[in-house]
Amino acid sequence: MNEIIFRITLFLFIILFILIKVPAQVRFMKNKKVKEEDNLFQSFSTLNVILANVIFPFVYIFSTLLDWAYLEIPVYLRFTGVGIYILVLVLVWSSERTLGRNWSPLLQIRKEHTLIVTGPYKYIRHPIYAALYLLSIAQFLISSNWFLGVISIFSVEVFYRFRVEKEELQLIEHFGKKYKDYMKTTGRLFFKFNK
Ligand code: SAH
Repeated sequence: MNEIIFRITLFLFIILFILIKVPAQVRFMKNKKVKEEDNLFQSFSTLNVILANVIFPFVYIFSTLLDWAYLEIPVYLRFTGVGIYILVLVLVWSSERTLGRNWSPLLQIRKEHTLIVTGPYKYIRHPIYAALYLLSIAQFLISSNWFLGVISIFSVEVFYRFRVEKEELQLIEHFGKKYKDYMKTTGRLFFKFNK
């Protein structure tokens, strides 16, 4: 019984996650880009993230194909996963709203790109990427399936490692001292306590 409830919950969360991302995607398509990194690998790693956090979970939800990786974990931990997923949805929604026309699925400087230092960006430089790591944990706890946990964290780690440095260099190149100063008061994924 519990099992079905957790599968339905994960399904609804994934649908919500996709819906939350629609407005930013629409804004992105309306707004022109100015500068672009070589984005082939970035597109590939984004596809990986979708595969590990949408497609494979759907296989787990709608079939028994991944049941071999089921782990017996306490129900309260699975509910903790539900809480974490809600946090992920709020964080992604508010970050993309705050970034507005500057959001991009790839590494791009958009037309009239402005530096955002408010909302979640006041505290950390990469709240959306932080949310992806939290999503990995949530997906693992809700599904109680170690395979879904491992592929998710792997996809996010590859995505993040090959992206964050380039993204910051691009922003430094564009905003110069303004971005460097912003870096002094914020952490990448965690709060900076020694401001
Ligand atoms: N790394 C951020 C944003 C992801 S969207 C996060 O995790 O929340 C990626 C785009 O956002 C890139 O094209 C980058 O140029 C832009 N970007 C990242 N931080 C920004 C900021 N503080 N202000 C404006 N644009 C930003």
